[in-house]
Amino acid sequence: MKLLKCILTENDCYKNKRTIRPKGVMVHSTGADNPALARYVQPAASTPGQAELLALLGTNKNGNHWNRPGLDVCVHGFIGKLADGSVAAAQTLPWNHRGWHAGTGTSGGSANNTHISFEICEDNLTGADYFGKVYRAAVELTAMLCREYGLDPLADGVVICHSEGYRRGIASGHADVEHWFPRHGKSMDDFRADVAAELAPKPEPDPDPKPDPDPKPDPDEEDHMKYYKTLDDVPEYYRDAIRKLADSGALKGTGDGVLNVSEEFCRTMTVLDRLGKLN
Ligand SMILES: [Zn+2]
Repeated sequence: MKLLKCILTENDCYKNKRTIRPKGVMVHSTGADNPALARYVQPAASTPGQAELLALLGTNKNGNHWNRPGLDVCVHGFIGKLADGSVAAAQTLPWNHRGWHAGTGTSGGSANNTHISFEICEDNLTGADYFGKVYRAAVELTAMLCREYGLDPLADGVVICHSEGYRRGIASGHADVEHWFPRHGKSMDDFRADVAAELAPKPEPDPDPKPDPDPKPDPDEEDHMKYYKTLDDVPEYYRDAIRKLADSGALKGTGDGVLNVSEEFCRTMTVLDRLGKLN
């Protein structure tokens, strides 16, 4: 997801300077057939990177963008088309700013006090390719915000659309996005599941898989080394070498014929004996 930053500093909502502690994300769509980000998002002369942003977004020649005073709406971000036709997201308010996107619900409460909001710019609602791209960008943006604010997208009331907010009594009566997503086979439950999947840790693909160079020993196998207590315990095929060592006094043990030699030791000594080293 390409994410630009173009804060709408001239909007009265921005000037109002109220902040929230984000408890969720509310998904909106614009309700107008115009997928261009430039319809809503334009830099002001004071916006950092103004010329570059303008080149990316394209110029709104109608002066009806949202970076101006006198509007009673503002959201934290938009998803739509750049001037080159590619889909991108633009941040338009600090994420913890109090937005003006939900109005007041039947409960008297408002998601403005709790939810970060973004608008997806609508086309005529039939473009499958455009829908796929903005849906994907919306999933990624929501996942990014959930990660940043420690939000669980599957918890009740956290990731909701405007119409769900209306039914919950915390937003005005609008249909977005349930008048659009289902046309392309997506419900808000699908959206939440896709956000959760985006947040789930992914196994890193290993470009050069190697066998584990140092496998941990199985604790059950740790001490399977055999020890032989006395010469009689030593298997016959090792016994000659061990007897030579004991007889010569080179191997003393702990007395009473107790040698406590390991199989590894016996094997090594047997090899040395075969080489004539113990004679
Ligand atoms: Zn809405």
